[in-house]
Amino acid sequence: MNNSKYGKNVLFVYPQIPANTYWSFKHALKFINKKSAMPPLGLITIAGFFPKSYNLRLVDMNIEPLDESHILWADFVFTGAMIVQKESFQNVVKVCNKLGKPVVAGGPYPTSSYSEISGVSHFVIGEVEDIFNKFLDDLENGKADYIYRSEKTPDISNSILPRFDLLNMDAYGSMSIQYSRGCPFKCEFCDIWKNYGNTPRLKSSKSILNELDSLYDLGWTGAVFVVDDNFIGNKKRVKSELLPALIKWQEEHNHIYRFFTEASINMASDEELLCLMRDAGFNEVFIGIETPSKEGLKETGKSQNISCNMEEAVQKIQSYGIEVMAGFIIGFDSDTDDIFDRQISFIQKTGIPKAMIGLLNALPGTALYQRMQTEGRLLDESNGNNTHSMETNFITKMEKGKLKTGYMRVLKTLYGLNLKNYFNRCSTLLDNIGNNSKLFKRKVEFKEIQMLLRSFFIQGSSRYGYQYMKFLMRNFIKHMNTFPEAVRMCIEGHHFYMITQESLEA
Ligand code: SF4
Repeated sequence: MNNSKYGKNVLFVYPQIPANTYWSFKHALKFINKKSAMPPLGLITIAGFFPKSYNLRLVDMNIEPLDESHILWADFVFTGAMIVQKESFQNVVKVCNKLGKPVVAGGPYPTSSYSEISGVSHFVIGEVEDIFNKFLDDLENGKADYIYRSEKTPDISNSILPRFDLLNMDAYGSMSIQYSRGCPFKCEFCDIWKNYGNTPRLKSSKSILNELDSLYDLGWTGAVFVVDDNFIGNKKRVKSELLPALIKWQEEHNHIYRFFTEASINMASDEELLCLMRDAGFNEVFIGIETPSKEGLKETGKSQNISCNMEEAVQKIQSYGIEVMAGFIIGFDSDTDDIFDRQISFIQKTGIPKAMIGLLNALPGTALYQRMQTEGRLLDESNGNNTHSMETNFITKMEKGKLKTGYMRVLKTLYGLNLKNYFNRCSTLLDNIGNNSKLFKRKVEFKEIQMLLRSFFIQGSSRYGYQYMKFLMRNFIKHMNTFPEAVRMCIEGHHFYMITQESLEA
């Protein structure tokens, strides 16, 4: 007998991510008629747990507004958020409460802060693979508890297929899949190893290929982001199982996908890994470089960055046709007055066009947060915006005004000044890739020609138009094979330029 007070209409709501961050790519997405960079993978993964008897709908507020009619249709609303989506999350809960619809919440923000959140009927927090079916059973039987939290980290080898079919795929710049959770390193500011452990857990290659088959069957073409925090956390299995399987799949599917992921810098020391990644279709990787200062790296426990020459490592990865996008942090206790110039010089020299640089913040659940609490230096909760937020949430060793002024100068140098420095970094990257990368040489699609025309029209007449034309002409002559990538870099540069102007003006 079903004792549930709820029916079977489930609405998934993904709250808004503030658009004024580098991560939103909002100014670049306009060139390709897309609304959001990535889909809500967490929510569509949860959706995969629901039996067929449920009616599921998804509203991603980053691509469409949430209407009362959506909520009124639902018997309950499931929502999840990162800290940066906190405000929008709270509004979603408020509207659902007003309309008398129960809310179920999970994801990083509710997991770290559920005790401070009101208006939610049930929390399903942490990694849910081991507990979600129990929660659903309890819900159906009308006896669901307030909080469900897994006691152990689940095995994800044969995980549920995310419900990609719930997405309006045309609205996204890329699709997302996840291969692993956890990271073998212990960076002080990071909550990944605290939440997911130091032993990476992996999906089977079969599960990943199923996900790719699903995307392929739904007609997706283009970029796929492998959202792992450290894709090479278990290098042995990545090399022996996943990458060979991906290479075969790509060969059978005409190399349809370009992959992008996050990994630690020690990937550069493994040529076999780099070859396999290149052959599987990886053309971009995000790396946490953080700082060129050895003292800063030591302070934050980033051992993998200390034990290599980071400049050479970046260049090595680029030489395999893989663009390095990287995270940088200012505000370590050991940072001295020259840190701003050292960051700029490292980023320019290594040819990292998209350098995500932010002030250090202490996130709840990290070792840094604990240390700041113990030292009595914690001021507030972080807003979760890790680029161009002008505030830190703890008392820094460097004087606050000096830190802020220096940081603003870094942003301005990297993405202002008529984008000259940005285009110089792009040219360095294209030179380092050279003309040998088979992956950057790919068939030009019709949509890319449209993108180029739009780019000419908008960027050619912009305030940085001269540098833009100079860059395009240089690389048309020097790197014709990678010219579509040069255009892509221009469009991404426009986004960084606009966001930087907006934040500096604000
Ligand atoms: S390498 Fe990256 S994911 Fe791993 S602990 Fe450090 S910051 Fe976190």
